Amino acid sequence: PSLTGNEIREKFLNFFAEKQHKILPSASLIPEDPTVLLTIAGMLPFKPIFLGQKTPEYPRATTSQKCIRTNDIENVGRTARHHTFFEMLGNFSFGDYFKSEAIAWGWELSTQVFKLPPERIVVSVFREDDEAFAIWRDEVGIPEKRIIRMGEEDNFWKSGATGPCGPCSELYYDFKPELGDDNIDLEDDSRFIEFYNLVFMQYNRDAEGNLTPLQNKNIDTGMGLERMAQILQQVPNNYETDLIFPIIETAAKLADIDYGTAENKTKVSLKVIGDHVRSVVQMIADGISASNTGRGYVLRRLIRRVVRHGRLIGIDGNFINEVAEKAIQLLEGVYSNTREREKVIKTELQREESAFLATLERGEKLLNEVIIKLKKDQKTVISGEDAFTLYDTDGFPLELTQEIAEEEGLTVDIEGFEAEMEAQRGRSQSAHETIDLTVQGSIDKLAEHIHPTEFLGYHEYQLISQIE
Ligand code: ATP
Ligand code: MG
Ligand code: MG
Ligand code: MG
Repeated sequence: PSLTGNEIREKFLNFFAEKQHKILPSASLIPEDPTVLLTIAGMLPFKPIFLGQKTPEYPRATTSQKCIRTNDIENVGRTARHHTFFEMLGNFSFGDYFKSEAIAWGWELSTQVFKLPPERIVVSVFREDDEAFAIWRDEVGIPEKRIIRMGEEDNFWKSGATGPCGPCSELYYDFKPELGDDNIDLEDDSRFIEFYNLVFMQYNRDAEGNLTPLQNKNIDTGMGLERMAQILQQVPNNYETDLIFPIIETAAKLADIDYGTAENKTKVSLKVIGDHVRSVVQMIADGISASNTGRGYVLRRLIRRVVRHGRLIGIDGNFINEVAEKAIQLLEGVYSNTREREKVIKTELQREESAFLATLERGEKLLNEVIIKLKKDQKTVISGEDAFTLYDTDGFPLELTQEIAEEEGLTVDIEGFEAEMEAQRGRSQSAHETIDLTVQGSIDKLAEHIHPTEFLGYHEYQLISQIE
């Protein structure tokens, strides 16, 4: 029998506890670091230590960190391995052990504890990191052909233009070793999955771009729990592991669908629901509430996507709390605030869902009319004007218009949409100027009409989505 997700988490933490790492609890999804919107990696809570701003209490730590990556939202349900919410298992050294130990222990954990066959592991190293290459080859004994040198983009970590940085080495699992060691392409995700990343923080980069060796070298690592579960449970993707599949089954049952025989589009919707529900439950548990800006807008957008994909697979009316309950059950034993905050979570979800359902119903009907007319006229682009009217008058989010357009093989004239937005701004500005001193009430009406916060939210989302 394969390991459960919970057992994998436990084995990881215990392995490093035995190697004198202090097991620390997951930090909140709301980071202390004001430059980052959400906790995106296990290292984030330790960033002040790595930057030398804080003295560590322990030289070694290990965590299972709740993470959210909005930059992967488009990958959800489409790749086998990306989520918005996932748990990153990590081991950290603050000026203590370094490359040799991190590599040796990463290997021992992978092959002895998780019992991955050594011949199924391929590793990457930074192009110039001869030291890591030599450790993998000579100390671990990996054949040279299975140690792949990669460029800066994937295999060099930095947290900014200056400061601590260093090369990484990633461990990949090979689903098709029979294809041999020639022409290994780690980007081929039908063959390989990255499951563990080791970062060797060994340099300081100064303003001129010069690298000097750090006195205190650090180790930062991350293993995706859901990915390790996929590998060990021998399922085709992260979603079908015991960490997420019960949520999908709950949603499938509500829609009266059999996941196993469902068509791909339906499976994608079920995966989106399975993923996003975990995100929203954990975000609210950590104190985020829905709004039109910042992380509150991320939350709102994720809830809306759950609702929409629920409708796509034929669920009518409110359902989010039934799947949320399953998501709470799955993680309540690990992150205690999940059940403690149950009431807040469910109240928030219910309110957002109901409000959005009403908006959706109206907007989808209107957009459908637009699409029918377009198709009749044999056009493929939804005009900026139509998209803007839907957004401005009916409160129907642009990104939903885009999503639905894409599903119908159409596109949206975004430039046209933004031009409309600009024109609207201009209009309301001059309107303000002319009536400013006269009727305060009309100004308020205008302000209501232009949804300024919603627009801000959309733009902010564009920024948010670029944060890794
Ligand atoms: P990928 O190249 O597959 O997108 P990554 O290189 O962006 O992954 P890292 O930033 O190195 O990922 O994060 C460390 C580990 O966290 C990865 O090796 C992976 O196991 C896991 N991980 C990263 N992003 C996700 C995600 N969106 N969903 C699930 N697990 C993830
Ligand atoms: Mg990535
Ligand atoms: Mg990668
Ligand atoms: Mg990586």
